[in-house]
Amino acid sequence: MKKVILLRFGEIYLKGKNKSYFERVLLNNIKNKVKEYGCDVVKISGRYLVANFDDMDLNSIINNLTKIFGLTSLSIATEFDTSKELLEKFLANYKTDAKTFRVTVKRADKTFSIASNEYEKILGGIVLDANPNLKVCLKNPELELVVEIRENKKTYILTKSIPCCGGMPVGTSGKGLILLSGGIDSPVAGYMMSKRGLELVGLHFHSFPYTSAQAKEKVCKLAKILTDYTGHFKLICCPFTEIQEEIHKHCAPEFMITIMRRIMMRIAKICCDKFGAKAIITGESLAQVASQTIESINVTNDAQTTYPVFRPCIGMDKMEIIEISKKIGTYDTSILPYEDCCTVFLPKNPVIKPHLDKAKREENKLDIEKLINKAIENLEIIEI
Ligand code: ATP
Ligand code: MG
Repeated sequence: MKKVILLRFGEIYLKGKNKSYFERVLLNNIKNKVKEYGCDVVKISGRYLVANFDDMDLNSIINNLTKIFGLTSLSIATEFDTSKELLEKFLANYKTDAKTFRVTVKRADKTFSIASNEYEKILGGIVLDANPNLKVCLKNPELELVVEIRENKKTYILTKSIPCCGGMPVGTSGKGLILLSGGIDSPVAGYMMSKRGLELVGLHFHSFPYTSAQAKEKVCKLAKILTDYTGHFKLICCPFTEIQEEIHKHCAPEFMITIMRRIMMRIAKICCDKFGAKAIITGESLAQVASQTIESINVTNDAQTTYPVFRPCIGMDKMEIIEISKKIGTYDTSILPYEDCCTVFLPKNPVIKPHLDKAKREENKLDIEKLINKAIENLEIIEI
């Protein structure tokens, strides 16, 4: 008899022939997440199992496991070799303060000779004998004793399920490049796409000395918080000062942001090429600011068409985005008051519905290739 953690997974059931690939990636992600605790992680039929941990580490291990995409819930369970005698002896000694209860038997091992509903009654009777004040309540019991008789010839007894994040195992959808500012939206966008199985690489534009060293540190901190869910990733820091100065000097002020965003997209495209990402992710939300109208997004999208741009926050209200940022722990860092490169040289009246032709005409006043090449030569890579 020993204490283990049973892990349940969801959507990867739907993957047909590729199922074993998804299961393998998820197993690896789980192993990495609890590596430091030295426990064992194995796949059993229909579940994953974490065993041989120190009781003192249990809370931290569970906290880590709830942040793994692909898992739907987990339970702390007592494991036995499947044996009627052992199980019944355990329940004959089971004491509880609860007033109402039920036993639920899940018989995954069909070679076990007693049907689930029949065995529920037998086991329920044993628990009642051990707890004379207890009453059976099938619909809404205070205590549900779940007995899982599994195909690995082990039986698990558990009482509670703790919800996990759901989603797809990180890495099973390929790699995406998240444009990470210091704001609220982009970390949430990274979280949401990672939840759909994307491994991340980050790209941050900074305008030192207009933006401070703290602004960059803040982005590193946000990236670090994201790694709880996404695993380690690279943060590419791209100097943007000269580009902004040149736009400011040569282009109509109302097109400042439009052109900045088109250049960001071109640099993002080059970073995708270099780092093997197959999609660009941003935290844009329709109508949030001038650069997030249909027309602005269209002009931004035109700057590179090699990779799709994922904007998971596009249909969300700010309050909904904030709710997720609080849940994942990025909010308090996001609201620290350091300037982002986008707010430097901000025009008074940015164009809200830019025309592509006009944007291109303004942009052609710059030696864009030279500016981009120089920025790319000076990329700094930080391992988060
Ligand atoms: P956020 O709240 O994420 O900072 P925002 O409200 O500041 O977004 P914008 O400035 O229009 O909105 O930026 C839209 C998106 O562009 C951001 O969500 C992010 O993906 C990207 N972005 C903006 N600034 C930067 C930056 N300095 N470095 C990298 N990406 C950026
Ligand atoms: Mg925003």
